[in-house]
Amino acid sequence: MLRLEGKNILVTGAGSGIGQAIAVRFAREGANVAINYRSGPELAEETRRQAHEAARMNGAIGAKTILVQADVAREEDVTAMFATAASEFGRVDVLVNNAGIQKPSASEDIEMADFDRVLGVNLRGAFLCARQAIRHFRSRPGGGVILNNSSVHEIIPKPKYLPYSISKGGMENLTKSLALEYAGQGIRVNAVGPGAVVTPINKAWIDNPKARGEVESHIPMGRAAAADEIASVFAFLASDDASYVTGQTIFACGGLTLYPEFRVAWSSGE
Ligand code: NAD
Repeated sequence: MLRLEGKNILVTGAGSGIGQAIAVRFAREGANVAINYRSGPELAEETRRQAHEAARMNGAIGAKTILVQADVAREEDVTAMFATAASEFGRVDVLVNNAGIQKPSASEDIEMADFDRVLGVNLRGAFLCARQAIRHFRSRPGGGVILNNSSVHEIIPKPKYLPYSISKGGMENLTKSLALEYAGQGIRVNAVGPGAVVTPINKAWIDNPKARGEVESHIPMGRAAAADEIASVFAFLASDDASYVTGQTIFACGGLTLYPEFRVAWSSGE
């Protein structure tokens, strides 16, 4: 039996990047996957095509996929998205809060509309989906799992990306507070904290060898991650292999959270 067989999973922002890799990975491991997208179903259709292919290649012939449109920052969209996923699959077992945006700006120049939008998608959106998931999990037996796509910026400050950095800091507390509140009710809540991953959010540097070399020079493992290297951590946390893990962020960051500047002993000694 495949590890995620029989599990129904909703992934937000799954038309590209890490969300797409999660949807494909979960389908490959046997899950039924609801693929959320905000606008333009073409990319979500491509995720669906890849998910089907991955499932087929791995013998997960029963795995189903559906597309669910919603802006995660809009309460009514989130309610409708869960209703669709629950009625199509019968129930939802795992929510992956993956949708996220960023907008660089010197902090003194941030427009409030941009501040509100980044927090609205990354943090308010994650809470709206988590709230709906918890209501759904508590409406039937069996508990459930909530997974948040956080970032190394959960703990590492990110000047010039203040709303993003705040949203991921908040996500740590969202993860821990919900985990503690619902630990006794069969609901596990965890997060993954990626470092630099090759996805569209990083279009500023992924195809520019000089800029990419600069980014990768700061990463102890010397390279950015492929999206599937992040998706595999989500698959573990979604599975029963992680049945005793809650309230944690697993950093999949090539060592970025290890204070890379301390690779050489500059702080003490001879
Ligand atoms: P991405 O831009 O490819 O993915 C973000 C997805 O979210 C897109 O598909 C986008 O359409 C969707 N989205 C945006 N607003 C939405 C909304 N209101 N409702 C529904 N969907 C919406 O980039 P990615 O790197 O795959 O980012 C996915 C997550 O990973 C984000 O939360 C991001 O913060 C996190 N992350 C990425 C990296 C990285 O280096 N790529 C590192 C750490 C954390």
